[in-house]
Amino acid sequence: MLRSASALLLLLTACRPNAPVETTPAASVSDTAVLASAGDTLRRAAALLEPDAPVDDTLRIRAVGDVMLGTNFPSERYLPPNDGAEMLGGVADVLRDADLTFANLEGPLTDATGNSGKCRAGSTTCYAFRTPTRYARYLADAGIDLASLANNHAQDFGEAGRSATVRAIEPYGIRWSGRAGTFASLTAKGRRVAMIAYHVADHSNYLNDIPGAARTVARLAQDHDIVIVSFHGGAEGGAVRVPYGPELFLGENRGDLRRFAKAVVDAGADLVIGHGPHVPRGVQVYRGRLIAYSLGNFATYGRFNLDDARGYAPILDVELAPDGAFVSGRILSAKQIGDGIPVMDERGAAARLMARLSAQDFADSEATMDEDGTIRLR
Ligand SMILES: [Zn+2]
Repeated sequence: MLRSASALLLLLTACRPNAPVETTPAASVSDTAVLASAGDTLRRAAALLEPDAPVDDTLRIRAVGDVMLGTNFPSERYLPPNDGAEMLGGVADVLRDADLTFANLEGPLTDATGNSGKCRAGSTTCYAFRTPTRYARYLADAGIDLASLANNHAQDFGEAGRSATVRAIEPYGIRWSGRAGTFASLTAKGRRVAMIAYHVADHSNYLNDIPGAARTVARLAQDHDIVIVSFHGGAEGGAVRVPYGPELFLGENRGDLRRFAKAVVDAGADLVIGHGPHVPRGVQVYRGRLIAYSLGNFATYGRFNLDDARGYAPILDVELAPDGAFVSGRILSAKQIGDGIPVMDERGAAARLMARLSAQDFADSEATMDEDGTIRLR
């Protein structure tokens, strides 16, 4: 009885929409509110049946950094074996084991032909990515339901390529944020959740307008229980430390990440998920909210340097209270093998590195990280 009630509860409230969903966020709110109240009733019923059973009120989120499952530009030889069918097989169970799973899609899913606008014809050193749209199902099969389309590869095949990505992932229920002004709004486990993704270019929600970002996040916080902010920023080239002030890379302002992250938390963000430097960076808890400054690469096939920490593939696992406060968290270590296939890493290299970096860079954090990746409030 309890088991079937729990199963139904899970079904009603887990909200892992791998079926087509409404594309207009507001349109699904009333339906999900009905489901949420039915879920609350069942939750209370389950607690009555077994009074000592803890009521699971936390929202579990798992998040990874850059995902690029293979590209047929400039050549089909940058596509993974078996057309990508096993690409995420070694980590899918871990990614799926959450109420919401986030990834940064580092490149468009499009079946457009022709050249990338950013590369000269015939260039082999220009990095533009084009993942076939049929690969969208691999993301969904691995449980990914929140995607950032705000990064320096989102427009490798123009805004049309980013729109093609949206058309490829939406039928699988993957919610996204990327273009300036866009955010995802959904209900998970009875909570209203917003996710907004920032990048250091104004074709996306613009990271370098910190007051503007704070205003937007404050608005989202008014009608959502939990606001997740993703950002793609920071210097590339193996920079694992988080500097103070604006970070420059190849003459470009890649963001004042400490100031950005704290400003969005001050404005109401509950979880900040960074990526962009291709390596992991430290984490901190600030005003009770977790900020992960970079989750690095995760599944980046064929065209990426995976030496050293660039091959680490940390999975952030975090539980948030109903109001979004950090409850518990840890880094699960994975690594990329071969040309960029993620597998779990029993040696825990990503967690160990991130524990060291968190201590080095965030002495004022409200939490510490153990060598095994466990994040503990002080
Ligand atoms: Zn990038």
